[in-house]
Amino acid sequence: MTAFVLPVPPTPSVAISGSAERFAVRRIFCVGRNYAAHAREFGNDERDPPFFFTKPADAVVDSGTVIPYPPLTTNLHHEIELVAAIGKAGFRIPRERALDHVWGYAVGIDLTRRDLQDEAKKAARPWDWSKAFDRSAPCGPLVPAQKTGHPTKARIWLAVDGKVRQDADLTELIWPIADIVSICSEGVELQAGDLIFTGTPAGVGAVNPGETMTGGVDGIGTIEATIGQPQS
Ligand code: MN
Repeated sequence: MTAFVLPVPPTPSVAISGSAERFAVRRIFCVGRNYAAHAREFGNDERDPPFFFTKPADAVVDSGTVIPYPPLTTNLHHEIELVAAIGKAGFRIPRERALDHVWGYAVGIDLTRRDLQDEAKKAARPWDWSKAFDRSAPCGPLVPAQKTGHPTKARIWLAVDGKVRQDADLTELIWPIADIVSICSEGVELQAGDLIFTGTPAGVGAVNPGETMTGGVDGIGTIEATIGQPQS
């Protein structure tokens, strides 16, 4: 057995609906833009192929967590997203086989330091500091695809303090789940434990200390997260 000089870090994980077991998270991939209306609100061509960025695995936090307002930003944004959890490894997975690799689905929020992202875009710098910060990937409980099937048509929504900000349908996804999994697996060998945040619909906006985000995808689940005071 390997000896380590420091304690082995805890394994990041996501809850599983109706179970005491948890889903160990290996990596987090996120789709940059995947709903036509959201692409348009940022002035992008909706026919562009999807691209990916990542967050650290330990950026996941459970639904119900109070998330301290992160440092370096004055414009923290919510992005509600359907999350696909990979249960079976695969490299260059054909589209027709892609859904066989999805273990289940959850609802997540891709928290974004929008001001840092705007600066990064302008300066042609990496997005990491705008996307890959502590607790930037709240994720609700996973439901096995065996129970839900693979969603193609369902309302996806997010409200801040009860006021609906994002309200769309999975039918508006430019690249459906099977395409996303297949295309992602062309760039990396997907592994069990990988999460894919599949992109956000229009209506992203700022969320501030004391405000609570609630969101959901019909038939999959819900998520709730409150933004707290900045970490001291
Ligand atoms: Mn996103």
